Amino acid sequence: MAQITCSFCGRNKKDVDLMVSGISAHICNFCIDQAYQILGEEDKNKKPGKNVKVKLKKPKELTEFLNQYVIGQYEAKKVLTVAVYNHFKRLLQKGEENDDIRIEKSNIIMVGDTGTGKTYLAKTLAKVLEVPFCIADATVLTEAGYVGEDVESILTRLLQAADYNVEAAEKGIVYIDEIDKIARKSDNPSITRDVSGEGVQQALLKLLEGTVVNVPPQGGRKHPDQKMIAVNTENILFICGGAFDGIGRHIAKRLNTQPLGFNKFVEDRQVDRANLLQYVTAQDLKSFGLIPELIGRLPVVTHLDPLDRDTLKSILTEPKNALTKQYKKLIEMEGVKLVFEESGIDYIVEKAVEYNLGARGLRSICEAIITDAMYELPSDDSIKELVIDAKYAQEQFDKSKFKKLQVA
Ligand code: ADP
Repeated sequence: MAQITCSFCGRNKKDVDLMVSGISAHICNFCIDQAYQILGEEDKNKKPGKNVKVKLKKPKELTEFLNQYVIGQYEAKKVLTVAVYNHFKRLLQKGEENDDIRIEKSNIIMVGDTGTGKTYLAKTLAKVLEVPFCIADATVLTEAGYVGEDVESILTRLLQAADYNVEAAEKGIVYIDEIDKIARKSDNPSITRDVSGEGVQQALLKLLEGTVVNVPPQGGRKHPDQKMIAVNTENILFICGGAFDGIGRHIAKRLNTQPLGFNKFVEDRQVDRANLLQYVTAQDLKSFGLIPELIGRLPVVTHLDPLDRDTLKSILTEPKNALTKQYKKLIEMEGVKLVFEESGIDYIVEKAVEYNLGARGLRSICEAIITDAMYELPSDDSIKELVIDAKYAQEQFDKSKFKKLQVA
């Protein structure tokens, strides 16, 4: 019988621990090991993120996707999708080195009451763009060297979201929430240092504009021995959001003091006092306490509309993952049909308005109403249908903590 030898190294079968045979060749355990190591090396050598591709989606396509999840907010959707589209066009233009025209970054600032969908819009957008996305909270940021987080920590989050793929992170989107909380506390330069206000605004400038930042990969304080990862923020899209409580006053003041004739447009249109945010401009942000340099790096300003009853109702029932659909699915898993009657839905919306809880409150109100059922149903096979009408909703709601919270 012919000797079996490894087709790679020629070792005899009796000299190895294992010989794997293919159709017309053999490989010994030593060669398998070696080949495996080579594979590992190859993987390591591959530059991370080599294949990060940017898919260009048109503003209308993006809006269509957003519409499946986010109700209303058409102005913000239009502004956001155009800015994102331009941003990605800018990414694709890179490399055409002969071109003198440099498209500038279009970071965005969104002004809107809390719970109107600022974060949700940014998150949904990131989903369709398939780029790394992270949410950072401006309230925890302080000027470097003070207790709190350095602005670089924002990029640590983005890196984590990108699985430490630097190239992917460099094309990511960062949503900075509560940007209004780092507004300058007063118009007069203070004698004490404003480490969590203007100082942070200053620190954010370089990040927003585009620079190479050394990021501590695990977050936390910069440590002299820690290995830093260099991240170029030039192509990172920053979307900032904030409620800017009280900015309405600045807007109203500006609208009233417009010299007649110069702003005939607003005069003609008649100011809609219920939704002053729709007139927000960079000037108002400055009056509120953002420094001009920061505003300059957030050239796209947009607003979110307050949520009225109809919008809240749509939010509750229409989006792809609307709350009512989620509860139906949950309860269906118990073999029980869940029906939301119109009157039940209206009751939930009414309570959200009454308690001034916005869209975020819809969920807690639903929980208050449905928790009992979710507790009982799994152990009771006799129930096949649960109908939530105004009567049922009210009974449950009255038992809940909300009722106890009510001011007497
Ligand atoms: P904020 O404006 O404070 O960032 P969020 O985006 O976090 O508010 O909104 C809170 C929640 O309310 C979201 O997770 C979402 O479920 C719901 N929501 C708010 N606005 C809308 C909207 N326009 N369409 C659909 N859901 C919304």
